[in-house]
Amino acid sequence: MGDPKGFLKYRREEAGYRPVEERIRDYGEVEKMLPDEARRAQAGRCMDCGVPFCHWGCPISNIMPEWQDKIFRGDWNGAYDLLRETSSFPEFTGRVCPAPCEAACVLAFNDDPVTIRQNELAVIEKAFELGLVKPEPPATRSDKRVAVIGSGPAGLACADRLNRAGHRVVLFEAEQHVGGYLRYGIPDFKLDKRIVDRRADLMVQEGVEIRTGIYAGRDISGEDLIRDFDAVCIAIGAREPRDLDIEGRENHGIYFAMEYLAQQNKIVSGEHIDENSLISALNKDVLVIGGGDTGSDCVGTANRQGARSITQLELLPQPPLHRPEHEPWPLWPKVLKTSSSHEEGCVRMWNILTRKFTGENGNVTGAEAVQVAWTPGDSGKMNMAEVPGTGFNIKADLVLLAMGFSHPVHTGIVTAFGLEVDTRGNIAVDSAMMTSKRGIFAAGDASRGASLVVWAIQEGKDAADGIHKYLTEPE
Ligand SMILES: Cc1cc2nc3c(=O)[nH]c(=O)nc-3n(C[C@H](O)[C@H](O)[C@H](O)COP(=O)(O)OP(=O)(O)OC[C@H]3O[C@@H](n4cnc5c(N)ncnc54)[C@H](O)[C@@H]3O)c2cc1C
Ligand code: SF4
Repeated sequence: MGDPKGFLKYRREEAGYRPVEERIRDYGEVEKMLPDEARRAQAGRCMDCGVPFCHWGCPISNIMPEWQDKIFRGDWNGAYDLLRETSSFPEFTGRVCPAPCEAACVLAFNDDPVTIRQNELAVIEKAFELGLVKPEPPATRSDKRVAVIGSGPAGLACADRLNRAGHRVVLFEAEQHVGGYLRYGIPDFKLDKRIVDRRADLMVQEGVEIRTGIYAGRDISGEDLIRDFDAVCIAIGAREPRDLDIEGRENHGIYFAMEYLAQQNKIVSGEHIDENSLISALNKDVLVIGGGDTGSDCVGTANRQGARSITQLELLPQPPLHRPEHEPWPLWPKVLKTSSSHEEGCVRMWNILTRKFTGENGNVTGAEAVQVAWTPGDSGKMNMAEVPGTGFNIKADLVLLAMGFSHPVHTGIVTAFGLEVDTRGNIAVDSAMMTSKRGIFAAGDASRGASLVVWAIQEGKDAADGIHKYLTEPE
């Protein structure tokens, strides 16, 4: 343990965000970094607990107490060596992970937890700065070829691990650039796309072959993949968006959040967008339907584009401000999240059902909504009912549907291989991440359902381990 009294001496200090008036004028990352000395003090708050629940809370099982100690001592090299043992891409999780580890930190029992996520980011960025992160191609190569379909965090993690094990990996990606939602979902103000390129470049130097602009199941068939590769990993994400099938949905000006967010990320990266398909919030009243992270990213993007007003609606009740009794430490508590985008300005409403969209000349002009109340039913399931007399209208000329994703798109590779899906429509896998077809594996949102970057990375690693075993220990 770096400093046995660190947690008594230092208060939790977050790096914080750039000022609102500055950051809404650009798409640069909003979160700042602490100076080294302050970061070392923050790492010194770690108590090196006998049972480190942070480790339990982290889906990739990072061994935080050990690298907090190295950070405290200023041993960045040592901290990086420990972090890389478990973490494939700390530069992604260090920026966007909601940090379940911090909710499980023993200090969080009655105090503020260690700034684990930001400490992790400091380690990997320091490692890049000091030139510690170098391409490390495998010393020997096997004669096995693996196709990984989809280059989101799951596909990247799977490809990275198999390549390190010496197999020949080809990563197929439908888009022009790799990254999945890291690139075409999460806005640049949370994750600069140069960070994705930096990692992809390293992987190429280490021997991963990346083929972009290829939609598997159409541009390359299932038979071709089975013929040319010894195993396949499907990491295509959960990209079937939930729609709102209500009156007026056909009006122009109503889009899925991902159409909007992906386009803005492309614009920031200098990719060409046809002028006729531009979606802009400039001088518009924007209505975001869906109170989650994707909705919050729409709010941040709309503010940067110069929206006149932004309203975010959520059907469910407002979460509590503090950890509720039924989600005790060290569980992940569902508490109210106020993101940097919310701080930049928007009206948030909970318990709101959107009944219909209104329009004029085929263009959306707003929505009719009503307040709802939730009460527990006999089976324990919550029942929703409209509250009489609470109907109201919201003016909007841009509506963004951010209600999540139901499951992976089945048309294409899932149907090409005739894969079984589970009751929620996700690709069914066994404990080794193998699908219903031998030699075909799946990982990330495609098999888990829409989740988090950190889970996608862990599942990508799990699938790589399943594939390695399949290739090296045939039955
Ligand atoms: C707007 C938004 C914000 C988010 N913010 C956060 C956050 O802050 N923190 C967090 O932890 N998580 C966040 N998430 C969730 C997180 O991004 C996902 O859980 C994660 O990216 C899933 O990774 P994946 O690799 O399984 O799939 P994806 O990232 O969806 O990648 C799938 C890839 O497969 C490609 N593909 C699909 N079909 C084919 C095909 N047939 N052939 C070839 N390629 C194909 C796609 O083009 C894509 O590149 C966010 C998600 C969204 C949408
Ligand atoms: S990956 Fe997420 S859960 Fe794991 S240590 Fe980093 S911030 Fe915490």
